[in-house]
Parts: sequence; C-alpha cells; structure tokens
Amino acid sequence: MDQARSNKPFLLVGNHPCLDFINTEMIIEGLRTDLLEEPADLIDWLLRAQLIGTDERKGLRLERAETENLLDETKTFRTVLREMAERIVTNKPVPRSTVETINRLLRQRHGYPQLLRTNGRFEHLFHSSTQGPARLLALLADSASDLLCTADLSLVKKCRNNACVLYFYDTTKNHARQWCSMQLCGNRIKVAAHYRRKRLKNP
Ligand SMILES: [Zn+2]
Repeated sequence: MDQARSNKPFLLVGNHPCLDFINTEMIIEGLRTDLLEEPADLIDWLLRAQLIGTDERKGLRLERAETENLLDETKTFRTVLREMAERIVTNKPVPRSTVETINRLLRQRHGYPQLLRTNGRFEHLFHSSTQGPARLLALLADSASDLLCTADLSLVKKCRNNACVLYFYDTTKNHARQWCSMQLCGNRIKVAAHYRRKRLKNP
C-alpha cells in the first residue's frame, strides 16, 4: 500500500463525514474534479475526516489488487450517496436500494462495540476485526447510516451557487447557511450581485 500522503485540497465544510465524503467530488476552476484519484487519497481523506486514526492507518495492510477494487467500490458508493443527498434536498424519499447498499457494506463489518473513556468523557467505539477494503467501505457506510439516523434531514443543504456541487449540514443557530463556504461561493456570488446592481444603476 502506498503510504505517501496525498496533497489533495479536501474540504471539510459539510459538518458531517458523509457529506464531506460526497464533497470529495467538487468543481475546481469550472471543472468537475474527483479528488479521489488513488487509494492513498482515500486513506488520507479518511484520516482528515477522522474516520480512522493514525494508528489505524499504520495498521492497514492492503494488497495492490485490493486497492484498485477499493477505489472503484468507493466511487460507486459515493455516486449512490450523492443521489441520496440530491433526493434529500429535494424532499424525495431515500430509495430502498440506497438502504440496501448501505446495509450490504455494513454487513461486512465484524467486531464488537466498546465503551471508551477519554479526557474524562465517555465515547462509544466499534472495534472492527474486519480487515482490508471491507473495513474502510463499512466506515463510509456507517457515516451514511449515522447521517440518516441522527441528522435533521431538512437541514441537509446544497450550496446555493448553482455551479457548485457541495453539500453541507446546516448547524447554524438560525439555519440560514446558504453556502458551502463564504470564501468559495458566498463572497463570489455576493460580489457578482453587487456589480450587477451597480451596472443597472449606472449603465
Ligand atoms: Zn459552493
């Protein structure tokens, strides 16, 4: 397994790992760009999204043939999740096939739950005994399951910039978040609108 770190500009603006995972496909300079080009990118994203820890990364033993399938399966699953997010933001039900796909990946996860005490707090932890790609795919499936079970789905939103494909979970107090990020879309759209208004006033 290539242990080299990837240098992909991952964005963690989704407020939920499942949405951040969908957002590994984004628009860069007008072009739809897939940030998961090689297995190392996926491992790095899992680390940055804190779905795996540094120790777990070191312990990952993936054969070359396995990693190729892993990337293909990851992307197929991401497409399913993007369709799911699209349906959620347009108030359509999550299809049964999506639930089945999530369950198929979760079924491959073997292990046991544990209670962990860190810094005086308790945390629920699943100790997975599954190795290889199935372990990583199950983590992604688990994040999707968590989104569906615990999130208020009416607060899953797509960036208001029509040219942007990013999703986020709006955790702001007044639920008024509209942009993936101010730097990427918010300011740009506001500045464009400002100049449009100015042109209309002073033709
Ligand atoms: Zn955006």
